[in-house]
Amino acid sequence: MRTHVVDHPLVAHKLTVLRDENTDTPTFRRLADELVTLLAYEATRDVRSEPAPIRTPVADTVGVRLAHPRPLVVPVLRAGLGMLDGMLRLLPIAEVGFLGMVRNEDTLEATTYATRLPDDLSGRQCYALDPMLATGGTLAAAVQLLLDRGATDVTALCLLAAPEGLAHMDALLDDAPVTVVTAALDDRLNDKGYIVPGLGDAGDRLYGTA
Ligand code: URA
Repeated sequence: MRTHVVDHPLVAHKLTVLRDENTDTPTFRRLADELVTLLAYEATRDVRSEPAPIRTPVADTVGVRLAHPRPLVVPVLRAGLGMLDGMLRLLPIAEVGFLGMVRNEDTLEATTYATRLPDDLSGRQCYALDPMLATGGTLAAAVQLLLDRGATDVTALCLLAAPEGLAHMDALLDDAPVTVVTAALDDRLNDKGYIVPGLGDAGDRLYGTA
């Protein structure tokens, strides 16, 4: 598994406002959306493309277009839904699948309550969206499900990651074709499984239930 921490002043600036407990829900939503678009630019660096012969008003030339089969974007519900628009802004041709997963707050184990995905993902590049890579249990389960259906590779986009979660995912997924792209690698998890310093509960802050 590869990890890529996006190092860019715009990302760091937006993330700082996102972390601030005084940031209201509408601003949080807008900034999360903008941040995902910046992450998406990095995360799609290896998206498959093919030559595209075209004619400009001046000459024939060969450009580039995204190849088929189309990439699949999979938000992990609920909080991953807040990342979907920002991702599709850069990848509008993508197909979208959905995975509903919930973390048991006592055991921190992930369970799947909804799956809306193509059965066969052979040859597909997949992008999983989950804002908080905390223990890594939910995201590892989501990524494994995509690999089990034949995905060629999976890139996970996260706003924040904890070292414990990355290590856990790395141990589970070993040398699988998986990349995690995140805006920051934070210090640690607290005893409730929250990322420190983090930004709190991403779902609550996105949907105003804090
Ligand atoms: N999920 C969140 O929303 N926040 C955390 O810090 C950890 C998991």
